[in-house]
Amino acid sequence: MIIVLRPHTSRHLIEEVISEVAKLGYEPAPIHGATQTIVAAIGDESTHQNLESLTALPQVERVLRVQKRFKLASRESQPADSVIDVDGVKIGGGHFAMMAGPCSVESEEQLLTTARAVKAAGAKILRGGAYKPRTSPYEFQGLGKEGLRLLELARRETGLKIITEVLSERDVEHVAATADILQIGARNAQNFQLLIECAKSGKAVLLKRGMSERIEEWLLAAEYLLAHGNPKVILCERGIRTFETYTRNTLDLAAVAIAKKESHLPVVVDPSQGCGRSDLVTELCKGAVALGADGLLVEVHPNPAEAMSDGQQQVDFHAFRGLIEGIQPFLNATGRTL
Ligand code: PEP
Ligand code: MN
Repeated sequence: MIIVLRPHTSRHLIEEVISEVAKLGYEPAPIHGATQTIVAAIGDESTHQNLESLTALPQVERVLRVQKRFKLASRESQPADSVIDVDGVKIGGGHFAMMAGPCSVESEEQLLTTARAVKAAGAKILRGGAYKPRTSPYEFQGLGKEGLRLLELARRETGLKIITEVLSERDVEHVAATADILQIGARNAQNFQLLIECAKSGKAVLLKRGMSERIEEWLLAAEYLLAHGNPKVILCERGIRTFETYTRNTLDLAAVAIAKKESHLPVVVDPSQGCGRSDLVTELCKGAVALGADGLLVEVHPNPAEAMSDGQQQVDFHAFRGLIEGIQPFLNATGRTL
């Protein structure tokens, strides 16, 4: 870490900082400028006390961190892309994965017709929420265990892998018994106890970005999963809250590019929550694929007008086929296939 002292700090007060740095286990290396001194504190920030507390000393102007706060998730720790293998379906490192299905699992017919349609169009993974995090307690909360049973049925019939959301620590064990990928939603993006339980399940985990979460915080949440022994982590950008009202959220494609630079983990884009409008979903998918996203998570419903949740942003089967056609040139241009 670098400790910047205020201009014209006296020798005596500089010495005080140097001795504090040494006391906290770092090797102090002062650099004396014409008016200002900085003290480089050499040592591993991950095993030593954070020196930000030194800003409590009046002669300290700023303390700057040199190392990244996330380690295992960083490109520095692993330069090559991670490839997550979900029982034969690969994501990352040039492997593109299309995940599609309804926002909520509503009925056997709804789920199975959707599973067949998305599979025929090229999806390898079926999404569907059995447990739904709804803003209002009066809205449809999902079918729960019955929803999981229907997802299993869909897997058995189609061979699609299953991604479904887990809302609480209490549910991890039984959701993991059905899911091939556990989805951690935006509202739980920094529920660290839930992250730890999901890590322990050993299942692949798709970690959504929280709606007001910084990229660094998102990567630190991923770090929780990695640090608790689960390397099968997929990041998912799903839009953040901004002042804009044309869209439900503002899909942050720059965050996808940044996450891919900073981390070796695959990054998937959810354009459905990302804009909240079915008419924009295909365009956002094209952008995401062009940018190098490792996959898409798209909401598809047989009849969006009758959906129990998020009807306004779900595409029907016809539109989904058009979406797949639409992204094809962008997949080709970036050397990937469905
Ligand atoms: C969803 O995928 O349906 C969902 C609720 O997502 P998010 O957590 O991103 O809002
Ligand atoms: Mn949804």
